[in-house]
Amino acid sequence: MSEHANLLRRHKAVMPSWLALNYEDPIEIVGGKGNRVTDAEGRGYLDFFTGILTNMIGYDVPEVRDAVERQIATGVVHTSTAYLLRGQVELAEKIARLSGIPDAKVFFTNSGTEANETALLLAAYARRSDQVLAMRQSYHGRSFGAIGVTGNRAWTNIPYSPLNAHFLHGADRHLPQFAGMSDETYIDVCVQDLRHVLATATGGDVAALIAEPMQGVGGFTMAPDGLFAAYKEVLDEFGALFISDEVQTGWGRTGQGFWGIQNHGVTPDMMTFAKGLGNGFAVGGVVARGELMDALHAVGLSTFGGNPISMAAANATLDYVLDHDLQANAARQGATIIGGLERAAAGLPVVRQVRGKGLMFAIEMADPATGEPAPPLAAALMEAARERGLLVGKGGLYGNVVRMAPPLTLTDAEAAEGLGILTASLEAVNEAATS
Ligand code: PLP
Repeated sequence: MSEHANLLRRHKAVMPSWLALNYEDPIEIVGGKGNRVTDAEGRGYLDFFTGILTNMIGYDVPEVRDAVERQIATGVVHTSTAYLLRGQVELAEKIARLSGIPDAKVFFTNSGTEANETALLLAAYARRSDQVLAMRQSYHGRSFGAIGVTGNRAWTNIPYSPLNAHFLHGADRHLPQFAGMSDETYIDVCVQDLRHVLATATGGDVAALIAEPMQGVGGFTMAPDGLFAAYKEVLDEFGALFISDEVQTGWGRTGQGFWGIQNHGVTPDMMTFAKGLGNGFAVGGVVARGELMDALHAVGLSTFGGNPISMAAANATLDYVLDHDLQANAARQGATIIGGLERAAAGLPVVRQVRGKGLMFAIEMADPATGEPAPPLAAALMEAARERGLLVGKGGLYGNVVRMAPPLTLTDAEAAEGLGILTASLEAVNEAATS
């Protein structure tokens, strides 16, 4: 048995069966440099998914490595939140300033799940309610609370949660009654539905709505312009808070606005973040209006949240994003690739839709005969891109969406290379599915 096959056997023996590995023959990544990785067999790949949007500015970035090594050299890799830590204060100041939330305060966690748990806890506490609103097709993490607001059966097969959640329409427009409906009418229908839910399914004392500005796991789908603003008006009437889950959409990734929610013209009460901020080092958090953050009358700490190594990595990463104006790069490279993919997909019956904003874009695959979601074709597209040297991700409510979120440092040449590979892969999959 090869080393690789043996590692896979050992993985299956001791890791959970539901910890899904990408690709029929899973990849062991052993090296990374710039926007590329190398596997154990020595094959190189351009990485259009970087873990799960984690290496936001690529691999082995000298500025991040130096910052982390400097911190390690002090001998302090951990102190806990019980001690003053300069890196934490500096990072919190930057995020509070960038958030656009008035009098913002920041709490650091180790993951997006924990960040959402914290935000939901703050909202429940502030509003004295366990009732929350969430979006269909959403994903917010794998803890009891976060799963309770996840509207995607593939990720939440438990029927209970400490939260009492109600799921709203947004990016999910598959139902036949929505077909052909204008955005304006759809928004009206959604707002009526929200009012109906509030009046009939809740006591009116709802803590918050939690929503992703662009749904990540849900397949990079977006609610139409104006929907979240319309929801926010109703929430304000009821005193319910708006939590924007920026775990995938933050830091300029969508090109338009530093936060995904800026695409919708809404100022949220809280935002949660994680993934790319540490450029691979584990860091997440919540930024919220100070009065909400301080309302929690409990002694709080996080043993590893805000640890010195993650803070060093995150400060260096965030500085890099701002110093190099990577939001503008995301907008530019994204427009080129999305436009190119639309042209490549035109006339290919295996593609239902190309969509996205900035460096967060997706190809939704359909059965050419029926037009129905086709997960095997998404898997085939992933394999075809891998064969040609490109790593991508998968998602969507039905698992039929190939998702891409390259590092924000993507160059013109890499954008062209990725687009070329995706075009060739799409043609190959279309040919195989239609001949
Ligand atoms: N929120 C969103 C929008 C996510 O996409 C994810 C992870 O994919 C999470 C929360 C959970 O983050 P983590 O996996 O860091 O716990």
